[in-house]
Amino acid sequence: MAELPSAVTPSDASPASIAYRSGLEVIRAVEPRIADAIARELTDQREMLKLIASENYASPAVLLAMGNWLSDKYAEGTVGRRFYAGCRNVDTVEGLAAEYARDVFGAAHAYVQPHSGIDANLVAFWAVLSQRVESPALAAAGVRQVNEMSEQDWAALRAEFGNQRMLGMALDAGGHLTHGFRPNISGKMFEQRSYGTDPVTGLLDYDALRASAREFRPLILVAGYSAYPRLVNFRIMREIADEVGATLMVDMAHFAGLVAGKVLTGDFDPVPHANIVTTTTHKSLRGPRGGMVLCDDTLAEHVDRGCPMVLGGPLPQVMAAKAVALAEASRPEFGGYARAVVDNARALAEGLLRRGAALVTGGTDNHLVLIDVSGYGLTGRQAEAALLEAGIVTNRNSVPQDPNGAWYTSGIRIGTPALTTRGLGVAEMDEIAGLIDTVLAGTSAAPAPKGGLSKAHHVLEAAVAEKVARQAADLLAGFPLYPGIDLS
Ligand code: PLP
Repeated sequence: MAELPSAVTPSDASPASIAYRSGLEVIRAVEPRIADAIARELTDQREMLKLIASENYASPAVLLAMGNWLSDKYAEGTVGRRFYAGCRNVDTVEGLAAEYARDVFGAAHAYVQPHSGIDANLVAFWAVLSQRVESPALAAAGVRQVNEMSEQDWAALRAEFGNQRMLGMALDAGGHLTHGFRPNISGKMFEQRSYGTDPVTGLLDYDALRASAREFRPLILVAGYSAYPRLVNFRIMREIADEVGATLMVDMAHFAGLVAGKVLTGDFDPVPHANIVTTTTHKSLRGPRGGMVLCDDTLAEHVDRGCPMVLGGPLPQVMAAKAVALAEASRPEFGGYARAVVDNARALAEGLLRRGAALVTGGTDNHLVLIDVSGYGLTGRQAEAALLEAGIVTNRNSVPQDPNGAWYTSGIRIGTPALTTRGLGVAEMDEIAGLIDTVLAGTSAAPAPKGGLSKAHHVLEAAVAEKVARQAADLLAGFPLYPGIDLS
């Protein structure tokens, strides 16, 4: 536990324990079922082997920063320029969160209002379009400032934006729905094309991407992923974007903690290379649920119009929690945490490979591992359900060119940010690899009602599930979660 922030280290007379017990008492007096659900969530999280790559455990300081009076303030606008009176404390928290974000990531500008990662991406899309509208070239062509545009101007502009295109990573290669795919508004706002990975190595193919960009000439080139287990070279990405006149947007939602902890540096740090960077704050960064946008000075004023253009009023209590999380991320211990996340992912990958599992790209360089479970004769959905029965929480995920589509999938995505926060290390990762392999090897596809094999249902002997669940519980018992908090 030596490398964890003090907020999650054991403490007998824990102020957090007193705070939560008292808080739950206050809630219980109004609606006991809510107090019970909150308390039960802590028990569930303590008992589960949480391998969901996008989840973490925020510190009590981060969590407590969200439950207070800041929540009651409306604060549309930006620091010092609000549409509501009485925002001096909101100005303090937003100002501090933005200052920490600029320092931690070395960014010129930070906008900390987005309520989630999707919202941060919407702010970024809007900012890029808005900046293009206000470009001198368009102004010279008679297009006025965006705030003054009439409906007809917008229609003319949409027609003029023959180049309203987005090039993003394919979903089955690890991209995210918000990178131009149909179920998200980005897939309707933009004509989209995807870039994939090399069919043999599973790695990003920058030459193919460059050729595609030259042909497609996107307005926005999006880099970043939800399920790619390797590093992305953002210097090359920027070269490609510049060559075709695109804006490079990097969505670092998954790996922001590795950037903050200086594990991803040089070509692999998106901030010096991208025009605009978006992120969530709750995954590897270990903050509250929320989003953030970082950008250079040329985009700052457009980004700052996120609310009310695409966002509702800011959530001051969450911005306060972002400031607390970023303060934690600015400490040297966070670098140790980020390095441990990657070491643990590598150990997990090696443990799985040694036991014969097939991994997309053959391993990992970041915080996540993608297991191709077809070698076990399973779909991702069956594997996910079987692992859950054995107390191991993961999520199914497509693999490149997935024959089972996005619903059943052929993959299981696992990640180490949460268990690393809890203090587990490489030895435990090897043990966990063994537990995962035991469950997957002991699971088979159930017969389908119309003959053949089901893609949805599985068979796992109860004795195997129980044994693994017991082993997982024993393992976790050595790494208590929030050891200073006792709700009894
Ligand atoms: N971007 C990426 C790369 C993600 O992986 C995710 C969430 O999984 C998001 C954006 C969306 O984040 P949120 O759920 O906070 O909207």
